[in-house]
Formats: sequence, C-alpha cells, structure tokens
Amino acid sequence: MPKIILASMGSRDRLLVDGAAVLAARCGVSAEAVVRLDDVAEHALHPEDGVLAACFAGASSFVVAGSRPRAVRALLAFGGVPCDGLAIEWVALPFDHEALKREYGVPWYPVIDRTRCSGCGTCRDYCLFSVYEHEPDAAAARRVRVAAPLNCKTGCPACARLCPEAALIFPFCAEAELNGEIAEPARRSPEALADALGDDPMRVLAERRAKKRLIDRDKFEQAERDRVLYSGVL
Ligand code: SF4
Ligand code: SF4
Repeated sequence: MPKIILASMGSRDRLLVDGAAVLAARCGVSAEAVVRLDDVAEHALHPEDGVLAACFAGASSFVVAGSRPRAVRALLAFGGVPCDGLAIEWVALPFDHEALKREYGVPWYPVIDRTRCSGCGTCRDYCLFSVYEHEPDAAAARRVRVAAPLNCKTGCPACARLCPEAALIFPFCAEAELNGEIAEPARRSPEALADALGDDPMRVLAERRAKKRLIDRDKFEQAERDRVLYSGVL
C-alpha cells in the first residue's frame, strides 16, 4: 500500500480544510495512510523512538501531495527512513504554508540532500549555533550531519544560501530555491559565495568558526565561575 505524504506548503497555495481526507479519497486509500510532513519532521527528530520507521514499514511507494520530493526524501533519510529506490508519485494539491504554520507550528531545521552534498563544511563553519558537525566516523570524515537540529533558529535559512552545492533544504521555507521544490537547483559559484561573505569567504568562515569557539569558551568559563560562586549555596 502506498504511503501518502501531505507535503504541499507552497506560499502561493490555498489551504484545504480537510486536505487529508480529500487526498485519501483521491488516492483510493483510508485517511490513516496520509502522513503530514510536519509530523514527519517532528518524529524525524527522534528516530530512536521508531515512530517514523513503524509508520512507513511496508510502504511500497510514496505519493507526495506537494511540491517537495527532494525535501521529503532528505527529511525521511534524516529520520532513518531512506526511500531510495521507491517510486514517488507527485500529486498537486492546494495547501497554504502560512495557514499550516499558524495552525500547527512546524519544527524548523535543515536537512541535507545527500545526492548533492560534497562535505565541504561551509555550513558547519558558518553556523554559530553548532547545528552541524562532521561525522564522528573517520571513514566518513568529509560528511557533515545535522547534529543539533533544535539549535537552528526558526525562520532563518541563512546557511542554505551559502551551500555551494545547493544541498541544504529547509522543508518548511516558503522559498522554492531553499525548500526542495526545485528538482535541480543551480550550484552556487565561488563568486556568489564571495558576494555573500565578502572578498575572502574562507577567511570570513574561519573567523566565524573562531568566534564560535570563543562564544563556546566564554560560556564554559562563565559556567565555571558560576559553579565556583554557587558551590557553597546550593
Ligand atoms: S555547505 Fe552544502 S555541500 Fe558543504 S557540507 Fe554543507 S550541505 Fe554539504
Ligand atoms: S539557519 Fe542559521 S541557525 Fe539554522 S543551521 Fe543555518 S546557520 Fe545555523
């Protein structure tokens, strides 16, 4: 039986109030087969609880109601449910991103399109909030992963604009270039990176990284001071 993913959140679309039921009827399945992309994003944060894996166990194919097959693939892979090799059928249906956000709230964090990521580390060096890290596995030393998704600042897709391979996806971003809507987004030239970061992007990123270490060290030292200060009163 196919799994239906309700993923359309284009800013130009209109909300269907009973979208899941309409979609299920259109695909000839029960409403239980329909999974909302924001629920997927929520459970992908906790792959160890097995909810996502159980939800998609036995799915022979996916129907994605929306405009983001790349985002859906990357999000499912992030949650430990790779759908490589499965058929994904695209169904266009009208929904409204802003209305969904207001009604339910959505978890905001980046996912990585593994088919494009080169492991360059730009995202890791740029992010001041330690969302990314290099894989601890030495064999995968050039792979970057989203290690602390909840550190990401809701609504900001800054690092996705700097990814040279256009591999970073914010599934709930309204911009097609950043939300996985475009199947083959253009790679960004070194000149574009320089435009965003100045003449010497690598130096700027190195400075950000040093600043990040400084912020981390400051916090640590503050915590140490607090620990000494309050050790007698706790
Ligand atoms: S900036 Fe893009 S290509 Fe480089 S490691 Fe991050 S996701 Fe991969
Ligand atoms: S959007 Fe900002 S906070 Fe979130 S991962 Fe990218 S750089 Fe870090």
